[in-house]
Amino acid sequence: MKRMCLGIVTSLLLDGGILAQKPPLLPEKEVRALANELSGETAKRNLEVIATSHRQRGSQGFHAAAELVAERVRAYGLSNVEIFEFPADGKIFYGTQRSRPAWDAELGELSELRHRGLPSKDRKIPAEGEQTIRLCDVEIFEFPADGKIFYGTQRSRPAWDAELGELSELRHRGLLSKDRKIPAEGEQTIRLCDYASEPVVLAEDSESAEVTADLVDVGEGTKESDYAGKDVKGRIVLVSAQPGAVEDLAVGKLGAVGIVSYAQNQKTAWWGEDENLIRWGHLETFSPNKTFGFMVSLKTARGLRERLHKGDKITLEAVVKAGQHPGNYEVVTATIPGAEGKFKEEEIAFSCHLDHQRPGANDNASGCVTILEVARTLQKLIGEGKLERPARTIRFIFPPEIEGTLTLLNAKPEFAKRTKAVVHMDMVGGGAETKAVFHVTRGPMSLPSFAHDVAWAFAEWVNQESYQFAATGRADYPLVAPEGDKGPLRAEYSAYTMGSDHDVYQDSSFRIPAIYLNDWPDRYIHTNFDSAANIDPTKLKRAAFIGAASGYFLANLQDANAEPLKELNEQGRYRRVSRALIRREALRDENLANYTQFWTREEQAVGDSLLAFLSRGITEGLQAYYGVSLMGNSLNPLKALRPIPRGEDLIRFQRKTEPKGPLAVFGYDYLEDHAKAAGVATPKLLNYEGLWGGGEEYAYEALNFADGKRSAQEIRDAVSAEYGPVPLELVLEYLRALVKIGVLEQVK
Ligand SMILES: [Zn+2]
Repeated sequence: MKRMCLGIVTSLLLDGGILAQKPPLLPEKEVRALANELSGETAKRNLEVIATSHRQRGSQGFHAAAELVAERVRAYGLSNVEIFEFPADGKIFYGTQRSRPAWDAELGELSELRHRGLPSKDRKIPAEGEQTIRLCDVEIFEFPADGKIFYGTQRSRPAWDAELGELSELRHRGLLSKDRKIPAEGEQTIRLCDYASEPVVLAEDSESAEVTADLVDVGEGTKESDYAGKDVKGRIVLVSAQPGAVEDLAVGKLGAVGIVSYAQNQKTAWWGEDENLIRWGHLETFSPNKTFGFMVSLKTARGLRERLHKGDKITLEAVVKAGQHPGNYEVVTATIPGAEGKFKEEEIAFSCHLDHQRPGANDNASGCVTILEVARTLQKLIGEGKLERPARTIRFIFPPEIEGTLTLLNAKPEFAKRTKAVVHMDMVGGGAETKAVFHVTRGPMSLPSFAHDVAWAFAEWVNQESYQFAATGRADYPLVAPEGDKGPLRAEYSAYTMGSDHDVYQDSSFRIPAIYLNDWPDRYIHTNFDSAANIDPTKLKRAAFIGAASGYFLANLQDANAEPLKELNEQGRYRRVSRALIRREALRDENLANYTQFWTREEQAVGDSLLAFLSRGITEGLQAYYGVSLMGNSLNPLKALRPIPRGEDLIRFQRKTEPKGPLAVFGYDYLEDHAKAAGVATPKLLNYEGLWGGGEEYAYEALNFADGKRSAQEIRDAVSAEYGPVPLELVLEYLRALVKIGVLEQVK
């Protein structure tokens, strides 16, 4: 069996040459230049440095990472290198984002106070009083080393540095070959958490405290019933939920003085499985019930719970020096200017997010260093004349996630106007240990764009080349990093998923298509184990290639070189229709008709998206290739039996120009906050579960579809086609809530 399969694979790959394809969209010499220059190791070296910083929004750690990125792009020779500073004080709004004040911590220690005699391996009681270890008179001695001087028997070895070292093979065209107290006497202190050595242990937005209190286990800690029969006043609660989810109840209402949480990693098949993981913790930035939260592993929590259940008294001592303060959102940016001409003021942006806990290697040092590597490579190749300077300017943006992007687009509206498309990377380096699947994620249905077909064309080609290499050891473009994996990429072309900065760009306030390259799942996301060791340089190189090729193609796309889009459009259409047909099986009746009509219009809109890059004449010529007839034959809109809209389903809604941005942003929910003030109940749509999507998604898109032209029924139909049928009343209730909080207005 094994042998027979191998035989078939071999013959498919080699004999027929079926998988050996020429690269798409770009001339092969440009693809070869990118493939050759992009380095997974250079990206990973940068990642190893960024991953040492605890990069919380507005913090010293974030600042250090921002400085590092700025230093790199300057060294690479990019233009217009700047670190924008936007004040963030908890009061200023940037669109729908209430700025979150900066947060920094100096010290965070959690210790258990034990009576002498209880077992402990680790700590000795300091003899008496305080002990101070002072380091002074720090000096760096310099002794000459030149290869001649001897120091005893050591012949000094001359220093060695390297600036450049490249080895290349020159191939002939055509020849292809591949942060207390001293414990009272008789007591022992056992350290549980230490911010200085492992910053992830202190929940973000923790406030300063010096507390000695007993620990009470309250299970999850989010419901009143969790506290039944337990007195938590003046005590520290042990909870399985995130600190932010329990602070108002445990601290605000019941008087607890602090929180210890063993919240587990994000839900995937590996959830709760690894008891050594310590998850990144959060308190609510805007909660009036300020407190502190420490994060412990499931293993530590199990030990504490077991002793509490046996009746042991556990006394903890927490010392925290941390807090919010007015600060800035810092956003690093740099450009490769476009060629002189009419497109120079237009931009293609490479985006990522630079914040998160240490190490945050895959999420998201990986996206940062990968767009950094794209910056280095494009700048170098253009400088060397191996790539022509693109018509449009290429910009690189390194913000704190979502809040930084939304701040940038609101504070500097000219950015949103210039940007034609975005290549966003958030988690692009997960190696085999992370269990990651790499996705090329298309945009929301409210913003169709051919740009996603461009990204997928390159990804599919990388899939083919990398598989061919893995299967046979031979490929023209294996895109393998010497320190990396040799396995195939196996990228997936995926329907829109939310959760990063691409949601901001594609929101109806901005309407900028964003190619989203992302890993999911990742069993170490937002934990202390999201470390550099799990990052695969080969994957960084491949993500860099897909991003660079797509971004470069879009930056240079003009009437004169639009020809390759004919075939791309054709392929994209068949792919979309094929997916639409598979989902259609789950529908019946009027939803079916609506679905058909929606997908037909979607194809038209993908064609129209070319107008942002090409002249009308060329766009219309290319649109002919969309051939709506295919949708007509398989999903015939003429056969649609649509209910005749009447009454309130005819009401149209239009988005106001302000505030700009999605309603649920980072650490802040505009709708929730404003609904309270306006006396509006939480719309039921937010908790709706549809066939292919949840409340958050329906809400995001219902707002995006409210363009003043669509009626309530049409908005309902559109979100039903995208995420599965939803009752009109739920959509109407949501839209009306948005009118009450001033985001939408009703139009006649
Ligand atoms: Zn992320």
